[in-house]
Amino acid sequence: MIAGVLALQGDFAEHIAVLDRIGVASVEVRLPRDLERVDALIMPGGESTTFGKLAVRWGMIEPICAFIQAGKPVWGTCAGLIFLARDVGRDQPTLGMMDIKVRRNAFGRQADSFTMGLHIVGVPGGPYPGVFIRAPLIESVGSDVEVLCTLPDGTIVAARQGNMLATSFHPELTRDARVHEFFLSTEFTRVQTR
Ligand code: GLN
Repeated sequence: MIAGVLALQGDFAEHIAVLDRIGVASVEVRLPRDLERVDALIMPGGESTTFGKLAVRWGMIEPICAFIQAGKPVWGTCAGLIFLARDVGRDQPTLGMMDIKVRRNAFGRQADSFTMGLHIVGVPGGPYPGVFIRAPLIESVGSDVEVLCTLPDGTIVAARQGNMLATSFHPELTRDARVHEFFLSTEFTRVQTR
């Protein structure tokens, strides 16, 4: 198993550090040909507008969509979640692959960042430390999307649609690798056919 990490911008190095710690080989993905070498793709936190611009410039939109359509596992954290989404409430380039409606910067500014213990479907073993930094929330999900985690007020912060996983928070910024392990587990990578 080789995990690709989209390395256009953002905290891809932190994802790679987690993968190193859990003994998973990784590759930085910048160009379409990099995708041919990887079995799964993680899209990090950062700035989704920048992801969009660079992905258009490097011809990455269609290859990533094809990767998803081929059933390969893809996970977006924070800006990566926004980049996956069908509807982000404004005009910016995204993959548009996941049937979720997203509200960017829904929890306020950088100074309003917080960590909260989360219960995530598929992640056993007690609360998971969710790090939220200018995070998006998922306003609504389509019928093929499974909600995996909500905050106490019902706000959706993690969801899955077949081979796509999306989290508003940043598992790459904690010492706790359980969400990475979940994403790379056979339970997740087994493609769901409908
Ligand atoms: N606010 C950023 C965006 O809208 C996401 C922030 C993050 O990834 N920490 O793209």
